[in-house]
Amino acid sequence: MKRIHSLPDHLVNQIAAGEVVERPASALKEMLENSLDAGADKITVDLAQGGIKLIRVTDNGGGIVPDDLPLALDRHATSKIASLADLESVATLGFRGEGLASIASVSRLTLISRPHEEAHAHQIIAIDGALHPVEPAAHAPGTSVEVVDLYFNTPARRKFLKSENTEYAHCAATFERIALAHPQVEFLLRHNGKVVWRLPSQSLAERVGALLGKDFVDSALPLETTAGGLQLAGFVASPTYSKASRDAQYFYVNGRFVRDKTAQHALRQAYRDVLHHDRHPAYALFLNIDPAGVDVNVHPTKIEVRFRESQAIHQFLFHSVNKALAATTAGAAPAVAL
Ligand code: ADP
Ligand code: MG
Repeated sequence: MKRIHSLPDHLVNQIAAGEVVERPASALKEMLENSLDAGADKITVDLAQGGIKLIRVTDNGGGIVPDDLPLALDRHATSKIASLADLESVATLGFRGEGLASIASVSRLTLISRPHEEAHAHQIIAIDGALHPVEPAAHAPGTSVEVVDLYFNTPARRKFLKSENTEYAHCAATFERIALAHPQVEFLLRHNGKVVWRLPSQSLAERVGALLGKDFVDSALPLETTAGGLQLAGFVASPTYSKASRDAQYFYVNGRFVRDKTAQHALRQAYRDVLHHDRHPAYALFLNIDPAGVDVNVHPTKIEVRFRESQAIHQFLFHSVNKALAATTAGAAPAVAL
């Protein structure tokens, strides 16, 4: 008979990493979200070899006090929630306290931070999940997280990584999704030392133009509606701009990029009469809703959410977008025979 035993922390973290850190882009997402949660308004990302060799995110956010550095890499340690009530109305992008612990368990991670009120920075290094002592370091106010050699200690996972180009494309897509939702934040993205994106602090329209292109903005209809505690803002492309792929579909709930069936269905319906059935609408839409009305704790990566009133959300999205589209197509010939 086999006896039951608890797994060592390091192994528990590596198991969690399988969910949270599927690939370099997932690590990048966790790191960018931490910088935003820390209130940064300037974020720099350096990638090497598609993020497999290096992911470094540097921010000018609130920082971490030296005593808390080991805790930042500890599983289930977070500064963002303290109770079930907090969880039910969570307004930060992170809250599970497992992002950095997971990443640290499958990489060589260096965390350097200097809170604005501290005169000096401190750093902690984790290699293969083992923490080295906190020591003084040099850094401007803010935080840097450097992740080197992702999956170096888990060869089976490393084999699942795709080519550098593919991993880089995922990192770039992750960066763009996050940058789109935070136009007031200044971003820089470099890959293998080359600048890919340099985005100043700008308006949403300017950021959408920079990231999604002039074609999109030129044809896009701005949209802003509020009803019953729901608020929707952003841009929907006019039917003439329809893309053949789903590439230009950006939908956010409370600043978080999500893939949501309710929203996808409502938007498809809204475009139904004006778009050929094999084309896909393009949009960058930001839904804001009382955090208590949406459960973001459905999946470790939080790419899915659950709405408490999904029917009301569906109607609101459908009507808002339908109305915006109707305003432009009024008088034009309908795309489907009546
Ligand atoms: P979570 O984001 O869910 O709290 P993480 O493992 O991603 O969990 O981070 C753990 C903690 O480390 C955070 O709660 C935060 O206090 C701190 N932290 C991580 N990254 C940063 C950062 N860039 N700036 C300031 N604090 C950070
Ligand atoms: Mg986090």
